[in-house]
Amino acid sequence: MSTSITAACLGQDVVVAGWVETARDLGGLIFIDLRDHRGTVQVVSDPSRNPEVHKVFEKLKSEYVIACKGPVTIRPEGSENTSIKSGAIEIYPTEVEILNTSKVLPFQIDTVDTVNEDLRLRYRYLELRNEAKRVHLINRHKIVHAIRSYLNDEGFMEIETPILSKSTPEGARDYLVPSRVHPNNFYALPQSPQLYKQLLMMSGFEKYYQVARCFRDEDLRADRQPEFTQIDLEMSFVTQEDIMEATEGMIRTAFEAIDIQVETPFLRMSHDDAMNFYGCDRPDMRFDMKLVDLTDVMAASEFQAFANIAKDGGKVKAINYKGGAKLSRKDIDDLRDLAMSHEYGAKGLAWITYKVSEEGKPYELQSPIVKFFKEAELAEITKRTGAEAGDVLLFVADKTALVHHVLGKLRLHIAKKEGLMDPKDIKLVWVVDFPMFEYDEKSKRYKANHHPFTMPHRDHLEKLETDPAGVKTYAYDIVFNGIELGGGSIRVHNTEIQKRIFTTLGIDDATAKDRFGFLLEALEMGAPPHGGIALGLDRFVMLLSGTESIRDVIAFPKNQAAVCPLSSAPSGVDQEQLEELFLKLVEPEVKE
Ligand code: ASP
Repeated sequence: MSTSITAACLGQDVVVAGWVETARDLGGLIFIDLRDHRGTVQVVSDPSRNPEVHKVFEKLKSEYVIACKGPVTIRPEGSENTSIKSGAIEIYPTEVEILNTSKVLPFQIDTVDTVNEDLRLRYRYLELRNEAKRVHLINRHKIVHAIRSYLNDEGFMEIETPILSKSTPEGARDYLVPSRVHPNNFYALPQSPQLYKQLLMMSGFEKYYQVARCFRDEDLRADRQPEFTQIDLEMSFVTQEDIMEATEGMIRTAFEAIDIQVETPFLRMSHDDAMNFYGCDRPDMRFDMKLVDLTDVMAASEFQAFANIAKDGGKVKAINYKGGAKLSRKDIDDLRDLAMSHEYGAKGLAWITYKVSEEGKPYELQSPIVKFFKEAELAEITKRTGAEAGDVLLFVADKTALVHHVLGKLRLHIAKKEGLMDPKDIKLVWVVDFPMFEYDEKSKRYKANHHPFTMPHRDHLEKLETDPAGVKTYAYDIVFNGIELGGGSIRVHNTEIQKRIFTTLGIDDATAKDRFGFLLEALEMGAPPHGGIALGLDRFVMLLSGTESIRDVIAFPKNQAAVCPLSSAPSGVDQEQLEELFLKLVEPEVKE
């Protein structure tokens, strides 16, 4: 009851129960901060008022669980605590009961942040006694509650789809579950409810949603969890616009649940523009610094290194690092080393500095490459990049994809360094018109960019066989400050088109039938036009709740090695269990 007890309860007899956060013996009087999930309240025992209660208080230690009854009284002047809601009052109990004792904890609740993560996760239930840690799960609850209410009001129905299911097409590795009753057969845990939610449209449920647990066995990365939650939607008889509108309303409501206002509709940008201007398909729109195309200028210039790349079908682009002229030569060299690092992959980084002129000119150019350009070319570079005195231009010339990759990353690196990404500034943008296919150099074949059930633009259908790379789709991603929150698409509801997509993907009839046969069959029995979207809930809550770790917003997360330090999962099983499942273990080969 702690924080619901305020000065408004003065004089009333109340019962409070919770954990002893601190016990202070101050020369006779014992002060307890009693904590429950709403906050803390001060409980005081005075031996002269109630010796029986005091005897119990003398035994209290940190994290004991107690219940007290007594009147709410005002704290003496000067001893109020303005940092807590109940800071104006205290309780002198007339009764007290110890409900449970506690061992000394492996760490202190109020200093959990200093504790190593595996130890915190090993005792996650103790970590969650800390209010600042608990708040993320409270926010999660509020957000999910708001999303559910919004969708229910909009006529969506929440329907559960199987967890023991068949492999789904999201492109990651499946978690498999062996079947005991069907030896040597396996269920797959769903990577998403994709196929089932499409089937529900074929059943005639026009608006479906699910707060869906999904499982993907991917390589470990800092913020990846093997299981995660998606807000999964699907709608029939809709256009891309309808889905985006429903999603915007849902996202706005989720923000409101934790008192953040965002305006709808969100910005929209084509995938082509995102790549061309920001170098990636999830642009951070909190700052500008667009990639500027100078390929044509360079092709005609005398600077052979750039001219050759431009003439060979590559690109030459630049970003304008505003205020970058302040950088020392060493700083620029560091930027070049970064651009040429393995992660970035550039073969070089050229620069032109617009020094503030001491001779009354608008600026003075400094760079090893300016000598190669004519006045008119420099004027064009300056005009397109908007460069002014104090700026530095950074150029990369290479194949288009690499130029975008390097400058897109450099843009973010510089913005971070210059503090251009205010976490309080929220920029949501839809990236639309994604390409249908991505060419995979390794396997020398096309892969679906979103998934194979994505509908190509009507006027691109004819390119499915002749120019697969040029086929754009009704697929869209929602991006929040440079982070992908989720994505979806209008689906193919026509068997013929679906077959042609499989053919381009190199999936033959037998494989398609084996993997998605049940969906293909359903497409032939009156499938309505439909589409949907899925939002990664964990990441969404993480961003809204203002924390940097996805593990903070999951009650019992796995650590970065996909292990649960609390339960020790994954773990070995009994021989008997293995035999029941007809499984034999093979020792993994130790890699040299
Ligand atoms: N199933 C997709 C995903 O998990 C989302 C969608 O297309 O609705 O990414």
